[in-house]
Amino acid sequence: MDRQAKFENANITALGEAARRFIGKPGKLLIDGKWENAASGKVFDVIDPATEQVVCQVAEGDKADVDRAVKAARKQFDGGDWSRLTAANRQNLLLKLADLIDRNGDELAPLESLDNGKLGLFAKMIDVHGTAEFLRYMAGWATKIEGRTLDVSIGIPNMEFQAYTLRQPVGVCGQIIPWNFPLAMAVWKLAPALAAGCTCVLKPAEQTPLTALRLGELILEAGFPPGVVNVITGYGETAGAALVEHPGVDKIAFTGSTEVGKAIGKSAMNTLKRLSLELGGKSPVIVAEDADLASTIPGVANAIFFNQGEVCTAGSRLYVADSIFDKVVAGVADIAKSMKLGPGYDPTSQMGPLVSKEQHERVLGYIEKGRKEGGEVVAGGAKHGDKGYFVQPTVFTKCGPQSTIVREEIFGPVVVATPYKSVDDIVAVANDTQYGLAAGVFTKDLSFAHRVVKRLRAGTIWVNCYGLVDPNLPFGGFKSSGMGRENGAAAIDLYTEQKTVLMSV
Ligand code: NDP
Repeated sequence: MDRQAKFENANITALGEAARRFIGKPGKLLIDGKWENAASGKVFDVIDPATEQVVCQVAEGDKADVDRAVKAARKQFDGGDWSRLTAANRQNLLLKLADLIDRNGDELAPLESLDNGKLGLFAKMIDVHGTAEFLRYMAGWATKIEGRTLDVSIGIPNMEFQAYTLRQPVGVCGQIIPWNFPLAMAVWKLAPALAAGCTCVLKPAEQTPLTALRLGELILEAGFPPGVVNVITGYGETAGAALVEHPGVDKIAFTGSTEVGKAIGKSAMNTLKRLSLELGGKSPVIVAEDADLASTIPGVANAIFFNQGEVCTAGSRLYVADSIFDKVVAGVADIAKSMKLGPGYDPTSQMGPLVSKEQHERVLGYIEKGRKEGGEVVAGGAKHGDKGYFVQPTVFTKCGPQSTIVREEIFGPVVVATPYKSVDDIVAVANDTQYGLAAGVFTKDLSFAHRVVKRLRAGTIWVNCYGLVDPNLPFGGFKSSGMGRENGAAAIDLYTEQKTVLMSV
């Protein structure tokens, strides 16, 4: 029996053992190529959100550990083996890591399901294989980072000049990631940084540290010099904050809530660190009267229910042309009611649990608020089962534009559907949010699509599809959804500084 099949048949006790084996050295931090205890000796529990059982414990790193990790990363950056590798060497290491991730996919995917709650199938396809492909894409950039030669306008008698720019790695990067796509987010941060020649200290979310630890093992196996990537598990307020404050860190890259992003931004400014922020969203999805309903209805349902709605780009505000509103809402509600909830590692589940008790309570709290503020629940609207952090996929109607669940990010499987009459009105309503991460448009009318796309204030707009991301496509937000663009060439810009050279010749 292969490991995947074993996993599918396993009970939670066996899963706990599996998790312990997968992470190799539980309770340890990866610092300078070695697995070390937290200086404080403290550990914290990792919980399976489907059963609420403790799976294992990991080290609770804090300021002292962050300091050791930053020093190790600094040593490699300032004249260590890493700093002497060629771009092609870095490319090859990233390609090796990609192969190792694919090769270990049957361990990584169930580990991700166990830790985060997500469906095993998606974990395999998106979180694991997608991540390996992302690494391969970014590996290509290592050898393609270039400066420019530039004309000079200074006119000084008897002097001539030659000018050019260099793109150089920004330095030691502190990378703080969320719990919704733990492995993928780790690699979205690490891969461009390593391609550019930076060194890294990664802090995974407290809820989902396991695949980052396994990734640390694979990074060592791939042959990255010790200290190039350090992994510090721990809490945001201690380990995360210490990383942001540390004077030895040159850049902070963060994905998470807008609230924490703002606090990190303020703190990072004290030492003028480079900063990129990928924050929350409240993305509108607009369905035009002429949309192909056979594909649009599952498309808009998937926009909100995929990954339990724990997606920064989740299409949580659904705006449907008046004439087809009832039909679309009924279709989405039918899908919501038909979904089978269960552990992500049960192959028959169609939606897993939310990541944590806190997130469960938060999402249920929003549902309650939606009801109190006059919203009507047409599907779901309650927790599911007695054990695990499950929430029924939920569809609301009749929520006013100022109601809390229309304005705040819920980060759960909850969509608010609202009818609209005119395109002008709906674009203004869609843009009436502090966020601007993504939006969707479903229509057969190309000129409608182009008009709306131009006017929507969001970093990514999907037309007749939703939620697809590609390593080559810039990703990031307008307004309170963040600063900077990840992926593509833009990601390399985030991890390099531009140096101007002016030479008298
Ligand atoms: P946070 O923004 O708190 O967490 C994201 C990451 O930041 C985690 O690694 C966290 O650490 C860390 N962190 C927290 N506080 C600090 C700090 N002061 N300094 C440095 N790092 C810090 O998200 P939550 O997990 O609390 O989720 C709350 C809400 O945030 C969700 O309901 C959702 O709305 C939104 N969110 C958005 C995400 C996105 O992709 N845009 C992803 C996750 C959440 P730790 O968790 O270990 O304490």
